[in-house]
Amino acid sequence: MRRIDLKKAQAARLNTIRDINRQIVLNYVREREPISRAEIARETELQRSTVSEIVDSLSAEGLIEEIGEGESTGGRRPTLLRLRTVGAIAIGVAINPTRTTVATSDLAGRIIAQEGSFTDPEPDRTLDNVIDCVRHFSEKNKDSIEAVGISIPGLVDPSTGSAIYVPYFNWRDLPIVERVSSATGLPVTIDNDANAIALAELWFGRPEVNDARDFILVLVAEGVGTGIIFDGQVYRGERGAAGEFGHMIVGSGAPVACSCGNDDCWEAFSSERAALARYTKLIGPEASAAELDFAELVDHALAGEHAAKAALIETAHYIGIGISNLVVGFSPEAVVVSGEITRAWALVETALTEKIERTVRRGLPSARILPSTLGEQPTLRGALSLVLASKFAAAFAA
Ligand SMILES: [Zn+2]
Repeated sequence: MRRIDLKKAQAARLNTIRDINRQIVLNYVREREPISRAEIARETELQRSTVSEIVDSLSAEGLIEEIGEGESTGGRRPTLLRLRTVGAIAIGVAINPTRTTVATSDLAGRIIAQEGSFTDPEPDRTLDNVIDCVRHFSEKNKDSIEAVGISIPGLVDPSTGSAIYVPYFNWRDLPIVERVSSATGLPVTIDNDANAIALAELWFGRPEVNDARDFILVLVAEGVGTGIIFDGQVYRGERGAAGEFGHMIVGSGAPVACSCGNDDCWEAFSSERAALARYTKLIGPEASAAELDFAELVDHALAGEHAAKAALIETAHYIGIGISNLVVGFSPEAVVVSGEITRAWALVETALTEKIERTVRRGLPSARILPSTLGEQPTLRGALSLVLASKFAAAFAA
């Protein structure tokens, strides 16, 4: 039961029915393509004429297209519809602690072109690079780019478009949306990386995830971030600051300092940096003179190297402690783990899940702990989905 928001009631009254029907038809095409008008009408129980009217307007807006005729079930062969696949409509910008990637995608989220560079700790230089890339892609695609989505590894206020705090570079109160938008003339949306990935899982993830109304995304990277999907949308909290579970306290004496400076945060036990520190301790500082990055550590573990495996398993144990706390508190349908560590899923799955199985929830159906299926660049998929999800989401809650 949801309490009505009277401040939004007037607009909702005028637009709700039309808007909801439009989103229903668009999402039937998105999820069941290729599909005919008659099938949509049958499955949605909308009037055939209503469906045709909505299909015409979605075609005119360039969201869906006809792709020829399907099998006849007696009578005329039906015309089949699908999402429009031609051309780039979105630009995604993933600002990661080490690299920044800018890419274009079509309406279905397929990446068309991308460029990358090292993230400069000097924010003006990073933003200038981003602006150059966005301009370049925008000009290359004439007028087809509709908006830009940006993901960053820190606290964001989505209502003002400012990065409140990015711990890796100590960026504070950086008006990113204003800068990129005024320089490129395009609408820009920004969100925290874990929230953006959670949104991408909700709209473009595997069915076990995107059919869930409540799930939690855990991003294990240089830091640890979480995105909470509550009732089919990102839960943001006051000023968009919800989901900072990376900084919940899980113990003391972590192998590295947290990005916030403390040594008792979940992130300090569970991040890629924590795993690398454990590995260095196991093999000795001399042997680790040629410094590994985390991807190489995973490669070593997959190749069977004992110390690399031990470092990953111990790290997974701490990731599991945090996930267990989240599951006890939220009772989500699923927890999705994103990051390079998922390449070693078979190796770390037991360590990840054993804590959860021993909690107070014994006897309750346990939340599924799943690796992300968004591929190698989850933050980029997240950045793109900030633009794409708004095309498919209902403007007003049903
Ligand atoms: Zn912290």
